[in-house]
Amino acid sequence: MHALMDLHTHTLASVHAYSTLTENAREAKKNGLEILGVSDHGYGMPHTTLSAYWGNLSVIPPYLEGVRILRGIEMNICDMQGSLFEEKLIGKTDYIIASLHGNIFDFGETRATDFTSVYVKAMERYPEINILGHPDDARYPIDYEVLVKACKEHNVAMEVNCSSLDVSGFRLNAEENQRLYLPLCEKYEVPIIVNSDAHMSTGVGDFSLAETLLDELDFPEELIINTSWDKLESLLGFAI
Ligand SMILES: [Zn+2]
Ligand SMILES: [Zn+2]
Repeated sequence: MHALMDLHTHTLASVHAYSTLTENAREAKKNGLEILGVSDHGYGMPHTTLSAYWGNLSVIPPYLEGVRILRGIEMNICDMQGSLFEEKLIGKTDYIIASLHGNIFDFGETRATDFTSVYVKAMERYPEINILGHPDDARYPIDYEVLVKACKEHNVAMEVNCSSLDVSGFRLNAEENQRLYLPLCEKYEVPIIVNSDAHMSTGVGDFSLAETLLDELDFPEELIINTSWDKLESLLGFAI
């Protein structure tokens, strides 16, 4: 895979990340990327960005260090109804990654054992969602057949999150789950996007673990968004 983009990266603004946007852009350039998406955590996650951060995105230039910069957000799916905590910010960014993080999710009275409907409801309620972030964590079990079909219906990409694959990753059985949903993405022709989820510039564009997995599964390149601007444009719905 010749990857041209990394759309899930964090900067100092997320507070538990350690690099600047410029440092991330330099690393992206070094790794041959043409597009860098900055997707800091929405303020639903405690101790991350402040709302002022999202009101000043226009200062980010379209190109930095020779790399096209897209202004994204990692929003929080925050309850069993699939609500996005930061729904007020819809339309303020170039794209939306919707993720479930246990530390901000309202599990309600009884702890659910199936989170499929949470993701499906989010996609039904918010057609602006472009990517499902790390839907690979066995702590929040998913029926992948149902989820992948819903992604197809709503033009949402399933993420192959490289931080999930890393040995230091904290998500449960992520590789096993990616091995479950990737063949379903192939079967139903649902695009995937490989993202680093880097919280430090050194991780930007480092897709080696995902590449090994995709090679092993012989995953079709035409369904990997990272390899062309056109595929990203059809996912996001505008000319980059
Ligand atoms: Zn996340
Ligand atoms: Zn992230």
